[in-house]
Amino acid sequence: MSLNPRAAEQAEAAQRRVQSGEALPLAGVPVIVKDNINVTGTATTCGSRILANYVSPYTATAAQRLLDAGAVIVGKANMDEFAMGSSTESSASGPTLNPWDQGRVPGGSSGGSAVAVAAGLTPVSLGSDTGGSVRQPAALTGVYGLKPTYGRVSRYGLVAYASSLDQIGPFARSAEDLALLMNVVAGYDPRDATSLEAPPAFRAGTPDDLRGLRVGVIRESLGGNTPGVEAALNATLEALRGAGAAVGEVSLPSLRHAIAAYYLIAMPEASSNLARFDGMVYGARSAAPDLTGSMTLTREQGFGREVQRRIMIGTYALSSGYYDAYYSKAMRVRRLISDEFTAAFGGYDVLVTPTSPFPAFRRGEKTSDPLAMYAADVDTVAVNLAGLPALSVPAGFETVDGVRLPVGVQFIAPALHDERLVALAGGLEGLGAVTLDSPAGFGAD
Ligand code: GLN
Repeated sequence: MSLNPRAAEQAEAAQRRVQSGEALPLAGVPVIVKDNINVTGTATTCGSRILANYVSPYTATAAQRLLDAGAVIVGKANMDEFAMGSSTESSASGPTLNPWDQGRVPGGSSGGSAVAVAAGLTPVSLGSDTGGSVRQPAALTGVYGLKPTYGRVSRYGLVAYASSLDQIGPFARSAEDLALLMNVVAGYDPRDATSLEAPPAFRAGTPDDLRGLRVGVIRESLGGNTPGVEAALNATLEALRGAGAAVGEVSLPSLRHAIAAYYLIAMPEASSNLARFDGMVYGARSAAPDLTGSMTLTREQGFGREVQRRIMIGTYALSSGYYDAYYSKAMRVRRLISDEFTAAFGGYDVLVTPTSPFPAFRRGEKTSDPLAMYAADVDTVAVNLAGLPALSVPAGFETVDGVRLPVGVQFIAPALHDERLVALAGGLEGLGAVTLDSPAGFGAD
């Protein structure tokens, strides 16, 4: 984490506003934001050497909304380089550790934002979710993580990874805090053409909200999960049934292609978005005798291996002759997945899956096998392809080698119904079905 040199100034400003009688929803609340969200005067490195010396000259809309609400942005959170990863191990400033077991990863790519909340550094934080980067680390660290509907939160000032998938989302320790944060950050922004009109007010629900709720378990997400993950899912479903929800099962057959489609869309978008980092305008520059040489060397030395791999695959998938075989086919799968979700929501109010098939894995376990790392997103990427809102709820623990590790369950709602997820979380809390706890040595409350 890097500290915000202007935090004290922000706290004093909030103090003055409170004293002058302003009612601020987040007065003095310390918040950490992911290091791909610009905040004036802070380093925004995106976990990359290429932006090591970059200081933001402007503030992202989501961050500005936090400040307007009286929050204090105390720092920027570590992340996988350019948000590409599922473990927060690829950052140029080193890995983030999981406070439940420091030999394990916190998930990624928003691992720093998740750990900030799990370890009690701040009550809430912001991350970004392109294929699961808020929900998966939330599950692996035992906190809430919400990926809003595409467009619900402005992307202005968020460094783009894959623009048709990226969305800023909050981490929190209660449904009430999720509601509070979403009421502050969500809404239309003239600076982001894809942002949406003001949403309905978010509120934490009660068990009464669960009566009659139609919950569809996605069949394709069953099997292949660790016993602790299956147990947490079953316990959550049991609690829902007990509260009067109708739980059924639904199949979305195209989900088996979700990982392939996601990476064949995310990487081409990344290869285009990251073209701007050539050492001419932003960040680091490696000197060479001529322009092309300098750009090449800057990108060779500035980007890490995974980012380079994705730029190359993305460029390849978009190149003439391969476009139809890869990118265009992936876009057709995206449409199929989206249509299957729409059909499933004809019969169900929310869908449910595990957030991750396993709890936190060991550091280094997947770093030499990119496909194993990509497979960690099997339950989350389809939601981004379809632009839907989804929430990871802390739903239990699995003991692995004598260590208690958190496990999450993912609820998915139809587009524009993010508020349904926050209400549901409050209902589950009322039933005692949400397992928020603090890792030993990190008192959060
Ligand atoms: N792990 C996925 C990827 O590497 C998702 C990342 C994200 O949501 N930013 O692309």
